[in-house]
Amino acid sequence: MRIVVLAGGIGGARFLRGLKQAVPDDATITVIGNTGDDIHLFGLKVCPDLDTVMYTLGGGINEEQGWGRTDESFAVKEELAAYGVGPEWFGLGDRDFATHIVRTQMLAAGYPLSAVTQALCKRWQPGVRLIPMSDDRVETHVAVDLDGERRAVHFQEYWVKLRASVDAHAVVPVGAEQAKPAPGVLEAIAEADVILFPPSNPVVSVGTILAVPGIREAIAEAGVPVIGLSPIVGDAPVRGMADKVLAAVGVESSAAAVAEHYGSGLLDGWLVDTVDADVVPRIEEAGIKCRAVPLMMTDPEEGTAAAEMARAALALAEEVRTA
Ligand code: GDP
Ligand code: CA
Repeated sequence: MRIVVLAGGIGGARFLRGLKQAVPDDATITVIGNTGDDIHLFGLKVCPDLDTVMYTLGGGINEEQGWGRTDESFAVKEELAAYGVGPEWFGLGDRDFATHIVRTQMLAAGYPLSAVTQALCKRWQPGVRLIPMSDDRVETHVAVDLDGERRAVHFQEYWVKLRASVDAHAVVPVGAEQAKPAPGVLEAIAEADVILFPPSNPVVSVGTILAVPGIREAIAEAGVPVIGLSPIVGDAPVRGMADKVLAAVGVESSAAAVAEHYGSGLLDGWLVDTVDADVVPRIEEAGIKCRAVPLMMTDPEEGTAAAEMARAALALAEEVRTA
């Protein structure tokens, strides 16, 4: 079985940990990672979502935070601050810095991001094939009103510095229109037996990946079940501020609205949490097969709950296939 997963950071990575447990030994998992969150800091290229997937599946993640390295120290950050060099709002630890140094060095030597990611994964052995959505630079910007002025800020500034405390008026994946899918992305989609949207952010994670020309079309035309899991449970995101960026694209923060946002042209099946079981008929009316199952990854380290979610997603794919 060949499985393709479109992943952001925490939600994607924790789901993938469960998926790995749930699939037969001969299954292959290709992860198409979001790079719209990427940012240049201190002259270094930082890819937060790729690293969250890599560290989580490779056993190097800070489990409580869900991002960054375990057993981390912050000497470099403190020294930079002593020089008055920021930004201070982005938490880069010493161990994490090494990843960004290696990545930046390889990029400067001319390797594309996909090759760099593969090289970094040699160390971490995530047990999946991790490919960035594109080797081209894409940067998600968010339009906000600050000091009475409409401004576009980098997604990380909106998310991490402002903690999404002001309304997002627009979310724009800058560069996406000109970006090409990274080598292997379209091939993996074309050869997939099933395509999964984990409970990642529908706008700034999965939405950004789908904004790279060719990827959405390839998924829609793959002719295999496409199954998503709702990141919204009981009308609120489980973690983080996804409701703010959903509002920016005119989508209400509910499991049903997110399914309709993806639409039946893309999604064949959708899993909602049991607390949202009442919306199953509405989603099925929209032409998307829907089931209500527990969707809370309550034991992210063990991944038992995520594994159950993954089994439910694969079972729904089977239902779609045989319908
Ligand atoms: P990010 O890039 O680190 O923000 O991570 P993702 O985009 O991959 O995932 C973020 C989304 O994961 C958020 O919108 C959360 O609502 C969702 N999420 C986190 N934990 C859970 C969980 O246990 N269950 C479900 N259903 N969604 C979750
Ligand atoms: Ca992210």
